Amino acid sequence: MTNLIAANWKMFKGPAETLEFFDRFEAPDGVDVVICPPFVSLEAAVGEEWTIYAQNVHWAAEGAFTGETSVQMLVELGVQGAIVGHSERRQWFGETDETVHARCEAALEGGLGVIACVGETEAEREAGETEAVLHRQVVAIPRHDQLVIAYEPVWAIGTGKTATPEIAQEAHALIKSLHDTRVLYGGSVKPENAAELLAQPDVDGALVGGASLDPESFAAICRAAVA
Ligand code: PEP
Repeated sequence: MTNLIAANWKMFKGPAETLEFFDRFEAPDGVDVVICPPFVSLEAAVGEEWTIYAQNVHWAAEGAFTGETSVQMLVELGVQGAIVGHSERRQWFGETDETVHARCEAALEGGLGVIACVGETEAEREAGETEAVLHRQVVAIPRHDQLVIAYEPVWAIGTGKTATPEIAQEAHALIKSLHDTRVLYGGSVKPENAAELLAQPDVDGALVGGASLDPESFAAICRAAVA
């Protein structure tokens, strides 16, 4: 199966920096690449040759939802999908399994692809709750051929602590036993550790935060996904 490597730029890169990135970014054949810029940079990004996803999407077609963006608005721009349920949304912006479900459903019905994120916190892992947390989060995610899941242990996001390939493999196998889809790994993926993680049988790609901001380091991760 072709690996999918997605870049989550979080709240980095306005339109000018977005265009600078694309001037320098090259990916090899044999890997699916998705870039997720902030909302204000989507319009600049869709003019380029890559598949562009937003970092979130609302479930309503329109309405009094200050700060949110609808499926139709993204489709009109030429955006092809959205991340849903990133742990930073769950942790800081009140995202729940119910809102994740509603966002996924609306996006899929509207023709967008979805990268739905799941993952346990450090406290949950230490309390032996990883399996229960993943089970709860995964069953809330709709089944659809345009949806992939990203396993992102919260303790590994932006911390430099990467899950070992064995921890990632174990979680991915559990997720796949619950939901028959591609599963990406996310959490401090870098050019140095990408190949080892991607070599695991149930790791079908990566969702990359920090290391996706630099075009050369993101390209190196894309190359590791082909090798
Ligand atoms: C992310 O934000 O989805 C992520 C995995 O971040 P990082 O690669 O920086 O840990």
